Amino acid sequence: MTHDVKQTLKPNGLGRKTHSRRRFFRKSAGTAVMGGFLAAVAGSYMRLRTGGVAPAKARGPLGIVRPPGALAENDFLASCIRCTRCADACEVNCIDFFGSEAGPLQGTPCIVPIERGCTLCLKCGEACPTGSLVPLSKKEDVDMGDAVVDDRLCVSINGTGVCGACYTACPLSEKAITQGIRNAPEIHPDFCTGCGLCEEFCIVDEREGLRAIQVVTKRTWPYKKEVA
Ligand code: SF4
Ligand code: SF4
Ligand code: SF4
Repeated sequence: MTHDVKQTLKPNGLGRKTHSRRRFFRKSAGTAVMGGFLAAVAGSYMRLRTGGVAPAKARGPLGIVRPPGALAENDFLASCIRCTRCADACEVNCIDFFGSEAGPLQGTPCIVPIERGCTLCLKCGEACPTGSLVPLSKKEDVDMGDAVVDDRLCVSINGTGVCGACYTACPLSEKAITQGIRNAPEIHPDFCTGCGLCEEFCIVDEREGLRAIQVVTKRTWPYKKEVA
């Protein structure tokens, strides 16, 4: 499956330790002026109120990755008390948090797979005191999103190399990922949990913040347009 990943934004990882696991694998005068002024003031207000353009952790069209078991987005936002207990329980420190730039999402947890994927230990769901993260008993029940491969970038598919790092990193390989010629990955959405380990370990770094395989979710940022 091919997916346009050009608009992927660089995650900033604020509020969390940095990691390096991947290295192992490597915008007529007079009234117009006044109108522009008022629009600018209104725009500034709106930015403050909504967070304006999507913050990096919203990952543009790829969507927000919430930890395993997260309720539907509106219910999640209404119930999450921003306590950080999920992150405290996370043994690989893959849970990050939105900052003030994210408006109503501020303080809520997310995963930025390009920095660190989820190992499906399921401890976050056990630790969540509000049910915002529903406890799950099996890693196969996790459904954070789906991995999507960009055929133009994957070296095993475009014929410039033989890789398979995503397959090796996948905790459900042979179910979520199988391999074809030159170890080319084939994703099976029915089994893919969206853990993002494939994205973390993908060897392709054409531009900073871009991998040949990336997790896509339906939790897209609700404030897409710059309002100024
Ligand atoms: S399942 Fe485990 S590794 Fe994944 S986000 Fe939750 S605590 Fe972290
Ligand atoms: S294909 Fe990627 S996102 Fe899906 S389960 Fe495997 S490693 Fe995780
Ligand atoms: S890790 Fe990246 S480049 Fe390597 S096979 Fe997987 S998608 Fe292709």
